[in-house]
Order: sequence, then structure tokens, then C-alpha cells
Amino acid sequence: MNKTLIVGNWKMHLNVHEASILVHRLSERIRIHRDIEVVLAPGFVSLQPIYMQLDHRKFHLAAQNAYFQDEGPFTGEVSFNMLRGLVDYVIVGHSDRRYKFGESLEMVRDKVAGAVRNNITPILCVGETKQERTDGETMQVLHDQVTTALSELTQDEVEDIVIAYEPIWALSNGTDFAHHEIPTPDIISKAVNVIRNNIRHLYGKEVAENVRILYGGSTSSSTAHGLLSANGVNGLLVGGASLNYIEFSGITEAAYRLAHQAEDNGSNE
Ligand code: PEP
Repeated sequence: MNKTLIVGNWKMHLNVHEASILVHRLSERIRIHRDIEVVLAPGFVSLQPIYMQLDHRKFHLAAQNAYFQDEGPFTGEVSFNMLRGLVDYVIVGHSDRRYKFGESLEMVRDKVAGAVRNNITPILCVGETKQERTDGETMQVLHDQVTTALSELTQDEVEDIVIAYEPIWALSNGTDFAHHEIPTPDIISKAVNVIRNNIRHLYGKEVAENVRILYGGSTSSSTAHGLLSANGVNGLLVGGASLNYIEFSGITEAAYRLAHQAEDNGSNE
């Protein structure tokens, strides 16, 4: 069984000192659980100090981005090669990158390939805008984003990656996550199904079943349980709420509760 994956994307927040305080607070509250994996994605400058500080049995690290070339004259960029050994995951194709920094489908594809080439698991973000949903284009958008991004990978490589379904209309601005519009579990399950069907079509049933798919968008400690219960969802990518240690540890608690429920159901069968 896949572990439930809870990823905190801190985006462009917290300096090194503040990041260290947040890690300290999270460490006090978050427990080790064999069915849950908790991943923190701080800004680049905090990765190394947090790596030294972390209890690696409790947390894994992710970068929020990287450049697809391994090295060269790319002033200001950080490559996957440079992140080797420091992070286990990297977020690729986040809507901030696609829409605010103009990352194309092909750029995202090259970044996914760059991550895999360097033994870092990509967390590939996909999702539609409000307009695309209203216009009935969600399936097509997800299809294009998923199939292009994975097109350089082998079947085995696809099986190991993580995909985050993040409808852009559900993303918070960082502080309004508790009051923002979020999709119903039914909307999430349908989108996750579309993603798995695209993968099934190209890479087979087993790969489609095994690939981990997260939901992301305005998750809070009070909505986490319902969102994690949506059919086909293997975890959450959390933005705004991951900066608040009470909220984020509440989200991991919701994952523990569900894992225990699943265990209890299993032992009663
Ligand atoms: C995100 O931007 O990846 C995200 C999930 O943000 P939020 O939870 O704040 O909507």
C-alpha cells in the first residue's frame, strides 16, 4: 500500500531563521507513522540548514523548482543535479511557475525528465483555471499537461512519480485557505480519474493504479479528512496552511486518523 503523502509548499515565505523555528514546532507535534510520509518544501536558501536540522525519520525534503539542465551558463538557476542528496522530491509545473513565469508544457516535461535523471521524485502539478472548467475544457487540459510532462519517461519511471491535482481556482492566496472555495470530493475524484485514465492508456493499468496522486488547493485542518477521503487521492499538497504549525500538524493528524480507520476496517474484515 502507498503511504499517504502530505507535502507542505512554503512558497516564497520565511527566511532561514523563521524556517528553522517552523521546523522545530512541527517536530514537536508531528509523530512518526509508518503509513504517512510528511514532506516539507522550503525556499532554496533554507534547504541545507533544514536538512541538517531535520529528523529524517519524520520528514523528507522537497525543492519548489529547479532548472532542467544539469549544469552550465544559466546564471541564477539551481539544477536538479545540485539538489541531489539534499531533497527527495521537487515540485514541478506548479501553476505559479506555469502562469507567473511562463513555463510551457515542454519546459515542464524537461524538468520532470531532469528530476528523474537525478533520482529526485517530481511532484508534477496539473490543474485547470476557472475559465477552462467553465468552458468544459478540464479533461483536455489535464490530458495535455499529464501526457506532455511524462512523455520522456519510461513506464517504470512514470510509476514512481507523484502528480498533484491542483485546480487553480481552488488555490488560496496564502492566508484565506480556510474560507476559499474548494472542490467537492466528487469533482476531485473525477479529475483524478481523468489523470489515471490518461496514464492507463499510455503506460498500462498497473502504472495507473500505483502512481500517487495528491489533491492541492486551500486545504486546512478542518477540510483535510474529507479531501483525503476522495476516491483515488493518495495525499495532499498544502500551501498556505503549511506555514501554520497548528494547521499543518492538524492536517497530518487527519491523515493518521484515516490510516487508523483503514487499519481498523481491515482488521474487522
Ligand atoms: C499550492 O499553491 O500548491 C497550494 C496548495 O496552495 P493553498 O493550499 O494555499 O491553496
